[in-house]
Amino acid sequence: MFRINDNFCKLAESYLFSEIARRINAYKAAHPDADIIRMGIGDVTRPLCAAAVEAMHKAVDDEADASTFHGYGPEQGYPFLRDAIAEHDYRARGIEIAPDEIFVSDGAKSDTGNIGDILAQGNRVAVTDPVYPVYVDTNVMGGRAGALGADGCWDNIIYLPVTAQNGFVPALPAEVPDVIYLCYPNNPTGTTLNREQLKNWVDYALEHGSLILFDSAYEAFIRDEDVPHSIYEIEGAEKVAIEFRSFSKTAGFTGVRCAYAVVPKALFGTDSEGNKVSMNHLWLRRQCTKFNGASYISQRAAAAVYTPEGLAQTRETIDYYLRNAETLRKGLEEAGLEVYGGVNAPYVWIKTPAGIDSWKFFDLLLDKCHVAGTPGAGFGPSGEGYVRLTAFNTYENTVEAVKRIRAMQF
Ligand code: PLP
Repeated sequence: MFRINDNFCKLAESYLFSEIARRINAYKAAHPDADIIRMGIGDVTRPLCAAAVEAMHKAVDDEADASTFHGYGPEQGYPFLRDAIAEHDYRARGIEIAPDEIFVSDGAKSDTGNIGDILAQGNRVAVTDPVYPVYVDTNVMGGRAGALGADGCWDNIIYLPVTAQNGFVPALPAEVPDVIYLCYPNNPTGTTLNREQLKNWVDYALEHGSLILFDSAYEAFIRDEDVPHSIYEIEGAEKVAIEFRSFSKTAGFTGVRCAYAVVPKALFGTDSEGNKVSMNHLWLRRQCTKFNGASYISQRAAAAVYTPEGLAQTRETIDYYLRNAETLRKGLEEAGLEVYGGVNAPYVWIKTPAGIDSWKFFDLLLDKCHVAGTPGAGFGPSGEGYVRLTAFNTYENTVEAVKRIRAMQF
């Protein structure tokens, strides 16, 4: 008789966004005329930039001709894309990352989830709280989370609260984690770490031998000089950090699928016998065994993002979302709400008015304003008392949402 991985049974049945969809659908069924503005799920709404579309058309034509056809590509990604990433995302910022330290994939969700394959089950994992749920759930699947307590925390995970009290800067933990997930610009709070704050984490990891898994899926939203675009801007980070990036939010690739992970050759883990093992080598081995590469068409589209046209077009789209974020932030502040994030990031994180919990405020916004957000509690215990709104809707809908919320008079 075959047995299943029991860890999967520990996971909560209802994924956050299914519950949100259920509530919206129920509301829609009861109020068919309600014009609901969706600011919940973090999907983009603007179409692909022209440079990427053109590159995809051309790539389809390549696939249609035997002389230019591409079947299986290199598991780590095509050199044309890895070279462009090394040049534009790193060398242009004074960071030396070699193309063979870059692993192209079909998504940062897959990468941040799959990385657990090369990490021992016994590692103690730390996450900021609230957090992108993938980090926690994949560690539950991998048997690293322990048991879920009544407080909503897994007893083997170290939670690093990020709230208004600490200015959304996680404190260095007294109990040393082996693996630390950091996501900046942050989903869900829309906040960032400055260079000094990120350096504290790199220094901590260097001192304690911890691994930092740095998710910078929202890097393209950074506009402030003092916010690092890559963890490798910090000295020594190549010895302690893996970085994850994605074209999803940078260039609207949520439906196209293309991302990458950087696993530096200077990064070594330790095996059970105390030997040093190259993480780059392990990840290469993992990818070559379990992954057959992102599609040629997606990679051609991703490479087009780095052309002068692609860079200008994607910047324009990000600027559009940033204007939405600013509109939300300013408008909601004027409505008397406490608002965080929304600068260098596409999310605003709203403190619920006194005495109202996350889900109640979610229901209130839906019912009174016909605006659908995401309850902060769905991202972890420290998200209670907050709601997230995204800047990914249209500018017109963003202005309308602000108008409706302001009319509520908090
Ligand atoms: N990382 C974070 C923090 C995200 O918020 C998301 C998507 O919302 C992802 C990764 C997923 O990226 P991808 O579309 O590349 O899988």
